Amino acid sequence: MDKRIQLLDAIRAIAVKTPMNDVEVPESVVGFGTIEYKAQTCSACKKCILACEPAALDMEDTLNMHDYLRVTVPQEGFRSKNREVLVTLLQNLKQDHDYGDVQAISVPEGLPGYGSIVWSAEQCIACDKCIEACPEDCLTLQKTYKLPEIIGPIEAPPPRTEGKDWEPFIVCFVCWECSHAAADLAGLMHLHYPASIRTIRLPCSGALEPIHIMTAMANGADGVLVTGCLLSECHYGGDSPKAGNFMQEGFVKFWSDIFEEIGIGGRLNIDFASAAMGIKFAEIVETFTEQIRKLGPTPIQAKTEVQE
Ligand code: SF4
Ligand code: SF4
Repeated sequence: MDKRIQLLDAIRAIAVKTPMNDVEVPESVVGFGTIEYKAQTCSACKKCILACEPAALDMEDTLNMHDYLRVTVPQEGFRSKNREVLVTLLQNLKQDHDYGDVQAISVPEGLPGYGSIVWSAEQCIACDKCIEACPEDCLTLQKTYKLPEIIGPIEAPPPRTEGKDWEPFIVCFVCWECSHAAADLAGLMHLHYPASIRTIRLPCSGALEPIHIMTAMANGADGVLVTGCLLSECHYGGDSPKAGNFMQEGFVKFWSDIFEEIGIGGRLNIDFASAAMGIKFAEIVETFTEQIRKLGPTPIQAKTEVQE
């Protein structure tokens, strides 16, 4: 199955409320965003559609009048003088006529050069290829993710009740290079360590994919904690902004905002510890466990019963 569809299905599976707001995409997060389209300058050449591998773009044989009437022609004018004349003409006409509720008009059959691009937020992987392909500079990528449009309405699950002995069940993804050693050290030092945490080792925190987080939540985790090497000390990227832990920090911030919107806010976090920081690792786990304890059991109906 297509990876993006799989991820969206996984987000829908753990959502307990309908998202109401678009989510800001951190600068470091690639693959998510919103394509903005300037219909007034589009020559309907379809080059963007041909460049878009996930088929997130299509063309409708309509012109949205509001796009033409609300635009301000820049001082240097449009690249296409024909288009500029059309926009100016429509705007002059508007002074004398009331367009009322007119939203869109059909493009007569056989009239080339006119049409409107339709963009699918669900399919788009924010790869920029359409932007590069467009000769008219009609397209730009905004760092927002249209979550309400993508996820759609969610039916809230019935509330969960847990016995008074409930303890948070936390999945902790640890990087092999540092935080796994820090977890071991915390054990060797006999530091107090919440028993309900399950660690899963990864080669690098940057190797964690969002589907792993969603799967842990869908299968009964009350919270997910990600730990990596100290920032600037990633074994695979050092202090590069493209190092695994820097990249994962941006992603976890993005997913945390999505968690907030879908009703499970506060149940995802990322922190960092070197191999020598057993005490810090124990503190990270304890602090996060306390946060989950305050939030209570996950509202998600687990697909799989967790075996203790
Ligand atoms: S950014 Fe990429 S996936 Fe999104 S519409 Fe453009 S070409 Fe398609
Ligand atoms: S948006 Fe650009 S590439 Fe796409 S049809 Fe319009 S002019 Fe052509």
